[in-house]
Amino acid sequence: MRTGIATVCLSGTLKEKMQACAIAGFDGIEIFEQDLVTSPHIPEEVRTMAADLGLGLDLYQPFRDFDGVTPDLLKANLRRAEAKFKLMSRLGMDTILVCSNVATATIDDDELRASQLAELAELAGDHGVKVAYEALAWGKYVNDYEHAYRLVEMVDHPNLGTCLDSFHILSRDWDTAPIEQINAEKIFFVQVADAPKLSMDVLSWSRHYRVFPGEGQFDLAKFMGHVVRAGYTGPVSLEVFNDVFRQSDVERTAVDAMRSLIWLEEQSAKWLASTSSETAAGNGSASRRRYPMELATLPKVNEPAGFNFAEVKADDTAQLEKLLGQLGFEFEGRHRTKDVQLWTMGQARVIINEQAASHSEPAIAALGFDVDSPVIASARAQQLKAPVVARKVQADEEVFQGISAPDSTEIFLCQGSPDGTAAWTHEFGEGLEHVSSAQNAVIDHVNLAQPWQHFDEAVLFYTSALALEPQPFAEVPSPSGLVRSQVMETTDGAVRLVLNLAPAQQAQSARKTYQEHIAFAVGDLVATARSARDRGLEFLQIPANYYEDLDARFDLEPGFLATLKELNLLYDRDANGEFLHFYTATVGSVFFEMVERRGNYDGYGAPNAPVRHAVQYDSLHRA
Ligand code: MG
Ligand code: MG
Repeated sequence: MRTGIATVCLSGTLKEKMQACAIAGFDGIEIFEQDLVTSPHIPEEVRTMAADLGLGLDLYQPFRDFDGVTPDLLKANLRRAEAKFKLMSRLGMDTILVCSNVATATIDDDELRASQLAELAELAGDHGVKVAYEALAWGKYVNDYEHAYRLVEMVDHPNLGTCLDSFHILSRDWDTAPIEQINAEKIFFVQVADAPKLSMDVLSWSRHYRVFPGEGQFDLAKFMGHVVRAGYTGPVSLEVFNDVFRQSDVERTAVDAMRSLIWLEEQSAKWLASTSSETAAGNGSASRRRYPMELATLPKVNEPAGFNFAEVKADDTAQLEKLLGQLGFEFEGRHRTKDVQLWTMGQARVIINEQAASHSEPAIAALGFDVDSPVIASARAQQLKAPVVARKVQADEEVFQGISAPDSTEIFLCQGSPDGTAAWTHEFGEGLEHVSSAQNAVIDHVNLAQPWQHFDEAVLFYTSALALEPQPFAEVPSPSGLVRSQVMETTDGAVRLVLNLAPAQQAQSARKTYQEHIAFAVGDLVATARSARDRGLEFLQIPANYYEDLDARFDLEPGFLATLKELNLLYDRDANGEFLHFYTATVGSVFFEMVERRGNYDGYGAPNAPVRHAVQYDSLHRA
């Protein structure tokens, strides 16, 4: 698959954008007109830069408001087009995007439109240029890709074809299956963009909220599958207008973009395989039909089976040790060669890492995940351009395959074991032979705060590299703003990761006010809370108003309600089951949560999240 990206996706000057695209490994780019007009480099220099960087100049765009106009306007439009065709020959480019008219069209007549497009194609042909006509979702008369293609067929000129843009097609919910009926030679270009499903006018949605594939909710694998079946072999190019990407680090965004195409390529191949009617039935051999476009695959991984460990980094570890001890964790000793402690409660393992942590407040630094094969999972992540994390190891110590998540949390891919133990724990203390704690627990979920400019990147990272499934996002009110909350989880719920986008006020505060936490699931939360209280644990104090509201909503048995109130426990219930949980006070930027899931309760106590945020805000501002 030939990969491409429009310069409008990125921040910086044209030169910076081109360099970042080359570093990220794109085959070609689309030059967005404004990036050229504002560049100090003349077209010949841009052409040389592209050649030096090994980048194809695949599409010049956009040319707007051409068709369906009065004769006077047509004359002016053809003059304007010819100037661009001449410019393109200086750039060495041969394909231009012409969007359906949104502003100046006054005549809704396909015969007229076709005759005007025919004139444009003829002129383009004189200059060796191909015109890719694209239906914008908000085109005045042409807003549907099938309509655009009908016009292309009517004109039937070698220099006129169509451009398929996933946003314009999927934002309008057009059926994508008919793409397969399009003559591949008439598909001059394919643009892909994802987007969250929003209820707003389609122009604003397109200009501000497009995201890279895998970061939104469109079924792009299906879209691409139809494109591949049509026989298209040209560039698959990202055209993503996004307010955040246009102001974030250009090289980093280009890598995020490239990751999205690598992932989409794999997903498209999977979609094709899963829907292929040509699979030989009976003999069991999946003889896949070959398509003209070659789709690369990635090392295959299953969902992680669980959390292997969570690691908190701290210079002064006293408060963390105290908290874990009060919660019922057992200290299992120090690592034999590193400044690292291991604390466990059943299968929940917490590492306190004192290495390279000078002057740092306690913070979540790393997460370990149980995978089938750490080597295969690591190979996949690296092919998806995840940065590798190196850890020093001594002889006989377990080598962890590590990658860095977009928020710099280190992700370790660990060998899972069916009994829930971890071989590396023998490197601590006297060597653990058994799950020693009387109280069993597992890591239920981890909640990570994401910098605003890397939130979408994080969703794609965990989706593509770790095979977690993004759930619909929620917005949680807090005293300093709405906190966007995105759950990423496995289908069995064994791994649950919650990504929170802190409001700008929190993220910019001099004090690190956004907090992250690790939640542990136990079998009997009331007993756990009582023991913790007896050991002197400082609970997050829940206001009395909360319990009145709880009673109003759930009509709880008075004794049970009194217990919840006495122990600062939070409660939720839905059709599947019940959820009890409590929070500790915060140390540095970390706090802990203990939960009990009853029945098949699958959530996170969402109605209680605003209470937690408000109490934490209050205690932070009182301190
Ligand atoms: Mg487009
Ligand atoms: Mg972190």
